Amino acid sequence: MVYRTARVGLRLTNAQRNRCFGLLRSAGDVWACVLELNAWRRQRHDTPLVAYQALCRELAASGPETFAGLDSVGARSVLRRFSDAWFAAAKRRKAGDLAARFPRRRRALLPVRWYHGTFVLNGRRLRLPSAARGAPFWLRLDREVPYPAEQVRSVTLLADGGRLWIEVTAEVAIVSYPAGTAPEPDRKAGVDLGIIHRYAVAGPDGQALLVSARAIRAEQHLHLADTKGRRRAVARRAPKPGRRGSRRWRKYRRRTRLVEGRHRRRIRQAQHEAARSVVAWAVEQRIGTLAVGDPRGVLALKSGRRHNLRVRNWQVGRSIAILRDKAELAGIAVHLVDERGTSSTCPVCRNRVPKPPGRTMACTSCNATGHRDLLAAANIATRAPAGGGLVQPAVPPAVITHRRAGRHLPGAGRSRRDPVARTDHPV
Ligand SMILES: [Zn+2]
Repeated sequence: MVYRTARVGLRLTNAQRNRCFGLLRSAGDVWACVLELNAWRRQRHDTPLVAYQALCRELAASGPETFAGLDSVGARSVLRRFSDAWFAAAKRRKAGDLAARFPRRRRALLPVRWYHGTFVLNGRRLRLPSAARGAPFWLRLDREVPYPAEQVRSVTLLADGGRLWIEVTAEVAIVSYPAGTAPEPDRKAGVDLGIIHRYAVAGPDGQALLVSARAIRAEQHLHLADTKGRRRAVARRAPKPGRRGSRRWRKYRRRTRLVEGRHRRRIRQAQHEAARSVVAWAVEQRIGTLAVGDPRGVLALKSGRRHNLRVRNWQVGRSIAILRDKAELAGIAVHLVDERGTSSTCPVCRNRVPKPPGRTMACTSCNATGHRDLLAAANIATRAPAGGGLVQPAVPPAVITHRRAGRHLPGAGRSRRDPVARTDHPV
């Protein structure tokens, strides 16, 4: 069993929306109270009040409806969040990481979580608990929750990118396969992570997969161009630091938040599509182990603002995390391995090959040729994780499956490689 979270949008009336924001604001008040309380204690040289149980006692002593419509379960979830954040920071500081900070900053809105048994989920309708004298609070979700109702463990109300969302966390069983079709742990594939080819995967018998993320990069370029254009257009109207913004400026800020949120959702969706196609292909090939080349060692190097942005937009950590989550659910193990040298070695004769200018790599010793990223993936498949593990000889990719992520993105309908119909100018 593993825990998975899905984000679901809401269909709300204005009154419901106000009530939701009221709950988030009340949660922010709970957070601020805890910060305030600890500030006083610090002044008096008392020990900080951070244990969850102690905070709950303090909340109970404050009496019902101290925090407007927020019920005690929802308020306690904020205390839990504070306590967890505090102890996580304490642990990191104890381990010598002085950059770890204790929670100190107030926030206007804070997510509220309710656990199993305190809410009612009935198809698309969700009832959140309300404070003692409050009316029952029913909300409408904009789609069915992707998990069976009895597996749902908690729901979280939050605001992101100017919109309200419900995050539903459920306990999900790892997929079970009919006999003879399950992924086998000793069938291993190497995964090379890239920007254009988000995942290049080389399997054990010459089967290979290339997942193109060209659409994601195009979305990022367009978004950057739009953002720059918008900034230039409004730069004159921007209030000076310390000056109050106009209503027009507030509207602009709101619009920006919505556009940013949409951009992030588009990218996230495409990243999930890319990872899903890798896992689906691996299940088809009965691959039980994925060795992923981890490029994060080289990414820390400073390499100019353009390249830095490219690397940040790439979000390697997230690509790995999403792949790991989906693979785990499908019963496939994911190992991180060192990827140094994998893109400059020939998988057939193990000789060093100079980096090719294009996508095709040709070995100067044995004349083997192939897609650069797939040859790298074949090399990655030969590497064992740091603790030791399955080692297998490199298999150069022979049969390549192509998949494209982000086909839902605007302007991504046609691949650059698709033939262009030129009826308007005859040759
Ligand atoms: Zn070679």
